[in-house]
Amino acid sequence: MGKTLLQKVWDLHKVRTLPTGQTQLFIGLHLIHEVTTPQAFDALRQRGWKVARPDRTFATVDHIVPTRQRQRQRPFIDVLAEDMIASLERNTSDFGVPLYDIGDERQGIVHVIGPELGLTQPGMTIACGDSHTSTHGAFGAVAFGIGTSQVRDVLASQCIALEPLKVRRIRVTGQLPRGVYAKDVILTIIQRLGIGGGNGYAYEYAGDAIERMSMDERMTICNMSIEGGARVGYVNPDETTFQYMAGRPFAPQGEAFGRAKAWWRSIASDRDASYEDEVEIRAAELTPVVTWGVNPGQSIGVKDRVPGASGANAQVSDALAYMGLTAGQPIAGMKIDVAFIGSCTNGRLSDLQEAARIVRGHHVASGVKALVVPGSVSVQKAAEREGLDATFREAGFEWRDAGCSMCLGMNPDKLEGNQVCAASSNRNFKGRQGSPTGRTLLMSPAMVAAAAITGVVTDVRELVDEVPAGVR
Ligand code: SF4
Repeated sequence: MGKTLLQKVWDLHKVRTLPTGQTQLFIGLHLIHEVTTPQAFDALRQRGWKVARPDRTFATVDHIVPTRQRQRQRPFIDVLAEDMIASLERNTSDFGVPLYDIGDERQGIVHVIGPELGLTQPGMTIACGDSHTSTHGAFGAVAFGIGTSQVRDVLASQCIALEPLKVRRIRVTGQLPRGVYAKDVILTIIQRLGIGGGNGYAYEYAGDAIERMSMDERMTICNMSIEGGARVGYVNPDETTFQYMAGRPFAPQGEAFGRAKAWWRSIASDRDASYEDEVEIRAAELTPVVTWGVNPGQSIGVKDRVPGASGANAQVSDALAYMGLTAGQPIAGMKIDVAFIGSCTNGRLSDLQEAARIVRGHHVASGVKALVVPGSVSVQKAAEREGLDATFREAGFEWRDAGCSMCLGMNPDKLEGNQVCAASSNRNFKGRQGSPTGRTLLMSPAMVAAAAITGVVTDVRELVDEVPAGVR
């Protein structure tokens, strides 16, 4: 019987089975940032411990960094944010960990820079104190988000105790229709399987639609695995993966790259691997998706009406009340106040290129605040070389510096009052974007761009005729 990628990588990194039944797993790459590390480093300091593998630990700043140039001057106005970044600077300096700080060309959202720099590689185990670490699974890595106490454990021992995971294969087959993107695929998967459907599972994404996707698109899919309850999401490495890896600063170079490729190929799931269960999603049935509620599973097609017309459960009623929606109301046409393009889900160059294509020749609707926040300095520079910043500015968008921005309310980019935000990020929880009554509608960057232009939730296929068919 063959093995899945998860089993192979797990077995290769297993140190031992603990008395609890958990696996002590060696971590190949530990990515850290300013929010979940201060207490972890304090714990090491109190015990006189060192970081076990500073050579396998990399730090960046993303969650709390302001995205307006003038607000990035130090010290930050926000004392708490200043404390966090100063702690990370002190800790990385004291413990010998590389830091990509503000002003560094390599700074950006942790899940954007890991792949960009070639730190993320197939067959690795990767941990980071952020839920969306599953992003790195796009490369055939086993990557999971961890809490602060586990960050401490990994810093101290380069190991972590984990429950074994079952594997569900999700095959996305056929051609995606015009105007349907990777974001629509993963929102549909979460909607169909439920936000807890992946509990105890790793999701293996397969099928010809996934195989045709670029690495950026695969990252969007894997990024939101956690929103479906799966601890890990991954795609088997293939030629698309290897082409992306080639020449990245931390990727193997020259002959070593050839050897690495052979090994990366070998860790892909075997043809006769068995899965706990399998699900098929037919790409041709998908439409652009918008969330209407307060978790990423509460979504519908842009042409659909919000649920709850009769016999709605308390969760649905509560979500509708919070969102200010009426049961049976079409989601298209819902007024927005803010449009946010960015985050580790959809803040990469191809996302910005696609959004720019939609906004070109249009202008942001009156009364809408629209911002584009590149996921990293590298994305920002590449976009600026292509003139995308000018395209967005001419259309009335604000062009910002790299960071998590409006994905969460930990920096100056926040919703106010009960503003409605069309967002390309990953969470629409109550208060997620910084205002306790703020409302978030998740969608693809192209759909955010369309909403920014019209001022209401809009089917991007109606706004722009030339939205391409299938995977971009
Ligand atoms: S963009 Fe959002 S989800 Fe991604 S790392 Fe930042 S805060 Fe976390």
